Amino acid sequence: MSDKNLTNINQKVERLEGYEGPGFLATTLDKAVGLARKNSLWPLPFATSCCGIEFMATMASHYDLARFGSERLSFSPRQADMLMVMGTIAKKMGPVLRQVYEQMAEPKWVLSVGACASSGGIFDTYSVLQGIDRIIPVDVYVPGCPPRPEQILEGVMKIQELVHNESLRRRNSPEYAELMASYGIK
Ligand code: SF4
Repeated sequence: MSDKNLTNINQKVERLEGYEGPGFLATTLDKAVGLARKNSLWPLPFATSCCGIEFMATMASHYDLARFGSERLSFSPRQADMLMVMGTIAKKMGPVLRQVYEQMAEPKWVLSVGACASSGGIFDTYSVLQGIDRIIPVDVYVPGCPPRPEQILEGVMKIQELVHNESLRRRNSPEYAELMASYGIK
């Protein structure tokens, strides 16, 4: 392989921050785990309407979510760590969404995709939940009706940023317990 190709590959490989010298690299466990988690998120797509179609485009070859290490979709909450909520969520569906969230193991992150999931969108009616953050905590909101696949990818990248920088102890902190308690989640 030519030096030029090698340089290109090195530029694409994400470097782990730390102290390095010839033959060694010292870093923190937080950083090593963060890097691994960030690049192996398993999404659970909770898609109910049109935004779900944009998600299908995001998964397909042109946009290719697999490039971010997230090609392994999970339809089982226990084998997923990124809940992607896409579409209109009727109030009747709220308890189901919440149960799915509760069944996911920690650590877990939530991406709210599109106006409907984030705020009820154009459906300002008695039957539609006016934002999923009324029943579960949300980490990143993606605006749009519908958002383009590029926006969904950006949302995933924002989640990756959170995952990368999250301390391993955050989920045991009193602040996190308080957040969960505010949603009535144990
Ligand atoms: S935000 Fe727009 S595109 Fe997405 S589910 Fe709602 S109405 Fe459909």
